[in-house]
Amino acid sequence: MIDVEVLVIGSGPGGALTAARLAEAGRQVFVLEEGDWIEVGEHEPFSLDQMEAQYRNAGQTVALGRPPIIYTEGRGAGGGSEVNSGLYHRPGPELLDDWARRFAIRDLSERDIVEHSREIEKTLSVGTVPGAVTPASSVIERGGAALGWATREVPRWMVYGETSDAGDGERQTMTRTYLPRAREAGATIMTGVHVDRLVKRGRRIVEVRATKRLAPGISEPLRFRPEHVFVCAGAIQTPALLQRSGLRTNVGRTLAVHPMVKAVARFDDAINVPDDVPVHQVKEFAPNISIGGSASGPGLLGLALAPEWARFAEVTADWEHSSLYYAATRTQGHGRVQALPFLDDPLVTYRLTRGDGKMLVHALERMVHLLFAAGARRVYPSVAEAVELRTAADLTELGQRLKLRDLNLMTVHLCSSVPMGEDRARAGVDSFGRIHGFDNVRVNDASLLPEAPGLNPQGTIMAIASRNCAAFLAGAR
Ligand SMILES: Cc1cc2nc3c(=O)[nH]c(=O)nc-3n(C[C@H](O)[C@H](O)[C@H](O)COP(=O)(O)OP(=O)(O)OC[C@H]3O[C@@H](n4cnc5c(N)ncnc54)[C@H](O)[C@@H]3O)c2cc1C
Repeated sequence: MIDVEVLVIGSGPGGALTAARLAEAGRQVFVLEEGDWIEVGEHEPFSLDQMEAQYRNAGQTVALGRPPIIYTEGRGAGGGSEVNSGLYHRPGPELLDDWARRFAIRDLSERDIVEHSREIEKTLSVGTVPGAVTPASSVIERGGAALGWATREVPRWMVYGETSDAGDGERQTMTRTYLPRAREAGATIMTGVHVDRLVKRGRRIVEVRATKRLAPGISEPLRFRPEHVFVCAGAIQTPALLQRSGLRTNVGRTLAVHPMVKAVARFDDAINVPDDVPVHQVKEFAPNISIGGSASGPGLLGLALAPEWARFAEVTADWEHSSLYYAATRTQGHGRVQALPFLDDPLVTYRLTRGDGKMLVHALERMVHLLFAAGARRVYPSVAEAVELRTAADLTELGQRLKLRDLNLMTVHLCSSVPMGEDRARAGVDSFGRIHGFDNVRVNDASLLPEAPGLNPQGTIMAIASRNCAAFLAGAR
């Protein structure tokens, strides 16, 4: 049995920041991370090779529903921060006030958060591209200008090289920032360790049981006796672990995602940059609809055109002229995460409402308009039936026929599966992440956002996690 003061489970943005903050405050911190430590640059960003190495189940995970939603989770030291696009938003006062009021969350005004956001922005070197953005990003800016829609360059956590151009940046992931900081402050970070279960007695977690991978097929059990536990395993694995441990109240019932519908757009000019993503987004319809660009390596273009990619083989063959774009929405419907006996992966389901379907079709239409306004020659929406659009007018006819079930949906933004708040009827944790009814176990990751924020979430997740650490250290909770 290993005695530890603070045990952090998971080393994504929530866990890495928690480990650094608490270690720097003099706490004895132990981080357990299921995946491996892989240095930035070891795998080409956004490649299928990276998906294999750094995504859970190589990114082949599905929330069942009509239609199903493919979702992806990062797995490894740094979690999602190692594989994501690095697009940063500081949570604004409207969002925070709205959440504080609707979900009964204490101390969540801009005043309570802003210093945390500033520190995070400094640590992650958040900023806009000093040089030129990619051609695929300019498409969004150009289309928005032609239609009179507001667009914005979204800052990223990136350090730029000599040319200062978009393609010359290096993402400031958790293995580059908060995890080394945690280690320097004395934290122990163990990778290759899967936490199986928390053992509870009364109001406390008295033991944490884990399995350390030694070699393929060989593992050893580990047991920890923590004073405090921070569960930061992400919005799918956190509720699954809590349920397996018998902590079930308001856990896993309210998963919220931003479903995305995608389209491949083909241009006369070469616009594809396989190892980078566009930094511009359409903000005209925020927070309900956001339009932006996705990673567009040839393999990913093929996936977006599946199952009809063979009919459009010339698009992937001529990939330099094409790029992938997305329209993401907020939903009224919710998902569920349910841990199942004897299985490693939880069952994830998501129910979209008719209103969500209308919103998604509407979002797709707007994206297609944007792409033609920016000069696209052809647009291939990622829908069940193979469609090639030659003008925006082609979509009007298609839009009338399209049903929610025809859309191929995916998401990379998973939140709200253990929501925070003082209303015990619906919140799984209190205003600062402590599980209701327990003294020494907290959630500090994407799970505790009360709903999907309508923007790339990592900045909000980290700011709230940082505020929760401050409250823990102050002994308020
Ligand atoms: C492809 C992609 C692109 C994205 N782009 C952006 C973007 O541009 N901007 C943005 O803001 N957000 C983006 N996101 C979302 C962002 O990465 C996530 O919101 C964020 O990583 C969530 O942080 P987290 O700490 O909650 O969990 P995660 O990052 O999911 O980290 C959880 C960690 O816990 C570990 N873990 C899970 N279960 C266990 C267990 N039982 N035992 C031990 N360890 C465990 C996992 O291996 C993982 O490393 C993107 C995500 C993806 C996948």
